[in-house]
Amino acid sequence: MNEQRFIFSFDEGDGNDRMLLGGKGANLCAMTQIGLNVPPGFVITTAACLACLENQRLPDGLMERVRTEIAALERKSGKRFGSAGNPLLVSVRSGSAMSMPGMMDTILNLGLNSATLQGLAAKTGNRRFAWDAYRRFIQLYGKIVMGVPDDAFDAAMAAIKRRHAAVHDVDLTAEALQELAETFLDVYREHTRETFPTDPYLQLERAIQAVFQSWNGKRAVDYRRQFRITPDMANGTAVNVCTMVFGNMGESSATGVGFTRNPATGQNAIYGEYLVNAQGEDVVAGIRTPKPIAAMAEEMPALYRQLLELRDKLETHYKEVQDFEFTIERGRLYCLQTRNGKMNAHAMVTTSVEMCRDGLIGKDRALNRINPLLLEQLLVPTLDPAHEAKSLARGLAASPGAASGSIVFDADTAERRGRAGEHVILVREETKPEDIHGFFAAQGILTSRGGKTSHAAVVARGMGKPCVSGCDAIAIDVRERIAKIGDTILREGDVITLDGTTGDVYPGRIPTVEAQFFAELDTLLAWADEAARLEVMANADTPRDAGRARDYGAKGIGLCRTERMFNDSDRLPLVQAMILADTPAERRAALARLLPIQRADFKGIFSAMAGLPVTVRLLDPPMHEFLPTASQLEFEISHLRHLQRAAQSVAELPDTLKLLDPELPRDYVESLGKLQKSLEQYRETKRGDAALERREAMLRKVHLLAEVNPMLGHRGVRLGLTYPEIYEMQIRAVLEAAAECMQQGVDVHPEIMVPQVCAAEELVRVKAMVDALKPEVEASYGVRVECKFGTMVEVVRACMRSAELAGIAEFFSFGTNDLTQATFSFSREDAENKFLPQYIESGVLQHNPFEMLDVDGVGRLMLLAIEWGRTARPGLVVGICGEHGGQPEAIRFCHDAGLDYVSCSAPRVPIARLAAAQAALKARELA
Ligand code: PEP
Ligand code: MG
Repeated sequence: MNEQRFIFSFDEGDGNDRMLLGGKGANLCAMTQIGLNVPPGFVITTAACLACLENQRLPDGLMERVRTEIAALERKSGKRFGSAGNPLLVSVRSGSAMSMPGMMDTILNLGLNSATLQGLAAKTGNRRFAWDAYRRFIQLYGKIVMGVPDDAFDAAMAAIKRRHAAVHDVDLTAEALQELAETFLDVYREHTRETFPTDPYLQLERAIQAVFQSWNGKRAVDYRRQFRITPDMANGTAVNVCTMVFGNMGESSATGVGFTRNPATGQNAIYGEYLVNAQGEDVVAGIRTPKPIAAMAEEMPALYRQLLELRDKLETHYKEVQDFEFTIERGRLYCLQTRNGKMNAHAMVTTSVEMCRDGLIGKDRALNRINPLLLEQLLVPTLDPAHEAKSLARGLAASPGAASGSIVFDADTAERRGRAGEHVILVREETKPEDIHGFFAAQGILTSRGGKTSHAAVVARGMGKPCVSGCDAIAIDVRERIAKIGDTILREGDVITLDGTTGDVYPGRIPTVEAQFFAELDTLLAWADEAARLEVMANADTPRDAGRARDYGAKGIGLCRTERMFNDSDRLPLVQAMILADTPAERRAALARLLPIQRADFKGIFSAMAGLPVTVRLLDPPMHEFLPTASQLEFEISHLRHLQRAAQSVAELPDTLKLLDPELPRDYVESLGKLQKSLEQYRETKRGDAALERREAMLRKVHLLAEVNPMLGHRGVRLGLTYPEIYEMQIRAVLEAAAECMQQGVDVHPEIMVPQVCAAEELVRVKAMVDALKPEVEASYGVRVECKFGTMVEVVRACMRSAELAGIAEFFSFGTNDLTQATFSFSREDAENKFLPQYIESGVLQHNPFEMLDVDGVGRLMLLAIEWGRTARPGLVVGICGEHGGQPEAIRFCHDAGLDYVSCSAPRVPIARLAAAQAALKARELA
């Protein structure tokens, strides 16, 4: 063995070294060292895992060291590994630096064989328990070490249960379990072509190797990719070898999982579930439905008190809500593991505020312990309280929120239909870690078995998806692909709605309402605003969005995209008339009709944001975006022409028929005459002709406006300078709206922003329009309008010429959507639909730059632009309004780069406020 130490006992390991010992291992060491009753054990380090994965075998000398440690466990427990008299059994668990629930493997009861099994039975006086432990071990070992499929064991279990008329596993007698274990040994032999190993050291060696290998298993790799866990966050898994204690040794034994506070509400009360006479497996897999921990106060009062003490010790030490596992073996309480509790956003916020108020943590920690993205959950919709739908069934309220979708019965179908854009609800008896891709794709999860700490509940909560678990009124038949609730039969594809806050399951789709802020969230975000330097503004285009952004705490509007208003159905025809105009005079006439509408929009937004700045961006997209596509128009034109031809033919029909048959019956001629007359009347209205002409004119315009690369073409300020009357109308609308607001006593702070600028001269010309219109508006309203003038920085040349731009612009706003496209020369739509996923998958790029700001490329351009811009104009205000403005990593960069504000969509404002605070705290910590 080389110099590196690969093994630490729980008494020795450094409880802070999660990278080396894994989170679980470090915690076991820390718990042992703060005096909690942890079963003795040792940790084999992540470094040993990496060495094993590299060389495809365990490091030299490792097993000798393992033997020494096992000898120590033998001394501490008074039991012997492999002894038939008083056998020591161990658990072998994975655990990396980052918590990855259920992603890697665990083997329990290692050390059992036909001899030690007899010892265990004799020692405990419980043959049933011994055979139960053995059959569990054979299955786990077979599955994890040798890849024997669960199905093979499950089928054997089902057959034995049938034969012994047992409903639950616990109904099986010792004899039945013995028969089961022996069948399991056969299953093992059939699948592996070897007999089950009896040497406990061989079992241990192979188990350690298998756990190491599970780090590179598909499940673990997928999970790391999904949650962006990189090697500097967690590299390799440690293996924890721990003396087994048993919760299934009779009525004075139990097992459970607990949270030091309620992970669904944040309430400051111990929360969890336990089962008497059971193993941990039973709770997590949801095989039996456990009791709430509160019931223990009655059932085992002394142990309940000990559990409360354990809870206090854990929180005082970790200063964080803990999610812990415990086992009571014949009246003695053991803490098996603890980790930071995964909670929903509501609980994270509530516990942050309460722990801070109770003095357990400071404000910085209260802010830092919450992943800003988690707040998104608080803005998810819940069921409309006015709905009158009748619940089909009620299960456990395992993860809050509401969702509707089509039923799917397996994870693969969920993934397939979810990818196709369908909303789906994954419905299972219980879920397993291999269902993870189904969770990613589903809107919600419904299980018929399992408690609030079952796999389904924990994973859904972590993802912020609604989950109803343990809904035993539902009988699921996966083969027939139906679920029965009483007389109701639900088929795959039927739509249901889940309410994870109440546990209700409804037929069909139910409307939802937006979430409301609650007091603790307001408090936390107020603390965030105190800590942050960056201001958070919103991207909002309508008075309604502006109002919402303000409710979420936006300090103004950083981007109002005027074109969004143009697309409303009441004004689109006016916009189209403006585009179809052939002369500036015609265009002005159309614009004159648009002016009052724009002015009213701006007034609404200014009023909603009274006292705060509102940045209005002048028109940006190419004109063709407001017209139908050429193919749509061609289709309509061909139909209209067809109609005209048909009408003509019908008009000629009576004469033609009479010519052919002079004897044509009279009433027939009369009815044709009527048809002919009404067609004549229709033609006289010339509506068909007008519709055709309008479309033909539009089509000519569409052909005229067609561009090979419209996003790099006639748009933004280019449009404003070639059709100045458009920008003049918009500038006038902004100034007049501001003036009218001022007359009504509304405090307005308008700002005009120019898109797509690449040359200072463009700004000079638009500024000249503002300067020309302002005195006119001021004179006619009799007020002085203060209006800042600034530019988007979203093309590469704007960054390079930022000093010149800053000569005219009072502020810069980075449009990182376009700037990313321009920097990479990627068209967003084409990139995301074609090569980008593969680029990311194969590691050419680490992230999608349209989602995560490309600090190394786009970021450097921004730094140059800021430096040169501020040299030319000290005090230049700089912000960002691309999608990245609401993304925590980008916000951190923006803070460090010295930006003044970030602007993002309204629902992201709370996220940005918290991220801005964290960025400031981080910078202070590093200073
Ligand atoms: C941008 O390019 O980042 C931006 C905000 O403008 P848009 O997304 O409207 O092009
Ligand atoms: Mg843009």
